[in-house]
Formats: sequence, C-alpha cells, structure tokens
Amino acid sequence: MLDAAKAALRKAVRPVTFSGAGLSAESGIPTFREAQTGLWAMYDPMALASPEGFATDPELVVGWYNERRRNVASAQPNAAHCAMAGRQDIVHVTQNVDNLLERAGANDVVHLHGSLDRDKCSGGCGHREDIDLANPLPLRPCPLCGHWMRPDVVWFGEQLPRVGWLRADQLAAEADVFVVIGTSAQVYPAAGLIATARRADAIVIEVNIEPGATPGIQLTGPAGRIVPELLSL
Ligand SMILES: [Zn+2]
Repeated sequence: MLDAAKAALRKAVRPVTFSGAGLSAESGIPTFREAQTGLWAMYDPMALASPEGFATDPELVVGWYNERRRNVASAQPNAAHCAMAGRQDIVHVTQNVDNLLERAGANDVVHLHGSLDRDKCSGGCGHREDIDLANPLPLRPCPLCGHWMRPDVVWFGEQLPRVGWLRADQLAAEADVFVVIGTSAQVYPAAGLIATARRADAIVIEVNIEPGATPGIQLTGPAGRIVPELLSL
C-alpha cells in the first residue's frame, strides 16, 4: 500500500493534502472535546464555541480560546507537519486551527476552519488582528465599530469561510492525488472534497490511526510515522 501511494505521489502533478485533528494529536494538541478537562468540563461545547455562547458570555469564550492558544504556542510541529512543509509542491488544506504547518515552514496552507492566530470583529465590519499565541489579548472591543473582537475560527452553526472553501473545492476538483490525513473521511467537509477529487479521477490516499472504510489506498498508523514515509521522494 505504501509503495503504491508513493508511486502515485511521485507521478502527481497537482497533489493536495487534507488534514484534521489526527495530524496535530502527536504534537499534544487535543481535539475540542479532549481539551474540555478540569474547569472546562462543566461547559457545553455550544457555550464555548457558538455565536450564541459568545453572545451570552464573551469573556468565558475568549478565556477558553486563549488557553488553547497558549497550548498551541508551547507545542511543536511533529514529523508529519515537517514532512508536509518540506513538499512545497503540495497545497495543504486543513481543518486544524493551529499554526503548526506554518511553523514547520509550509508556505501554502488553506485553513477551512479559520486560525487561532487571528481575531475578527464579531460585528462583521471586517476588521482583523493578528494574535501572538503565547500572549493572547483579553476580551476587547473592535477599534472600528465597538463590537467585541472574537477568534477567527468557525463555530458550531457557522459556515466555512467562503474564500477558503472555494479554494479547497477547486483544489480537490483539480487534484490528481488527494491525501487525507488524520480526519474522518466520511463526514463533511472531508467527504464532499473526497467525492469531488474522485470525480476528477484523483487517487485518494487515507492516513489514519484507525483503518478507514472508504475506497482508495489506506495507510494505518500515526501520522508522525506514516506521513514522512509517504512524502519522502
Ligand atoms: Zn468592527
């Protein structure tokens, strides 16, 4: 399976990766639910990551995200991030909101669920600010319109960012090899992008800790071991 996957990637002209939480798990980045420990375990996810939750208690939501930001700041890219960043010919679409691919040196990353290293105005005026993950800013109003600033990430009940989604959809439609890393291939949006790639006759390679159920090339194991083997030329 690995040899077949490597052969496909060697011949690829427009390879694309699509990654999720399994990519960053070995860097110690917990999934949303795994992060809900200690004090946070008492909160419903909707209270921490939805427009309604933010409207109810913006300080709580910003506190939750600032703890996640400091966690990402103290984490390091793992071998999978580094192997992906080393392939400048590949565009990386990710659902992850951390910046570990960029910190590994990747120069073309499409964040489908936004990024922790940016805030945006909750009033929709378009104002955005870069955030230092090690020293995130507390809750504060937008300097342009006075609404609260909020993390520039996708919350429950929100649409994916239009520009990022259109680019990901186009990349999938034009891909000849589509590598799914550390995410379920059966749920939205992965399932939709994989279906688009298949319609374009792309070879789909799936790297996951659990064996996948979708057709295509399955590589089972931790991303930090499989991805460097897969992407080495
Ligand atoms: Zn504003």
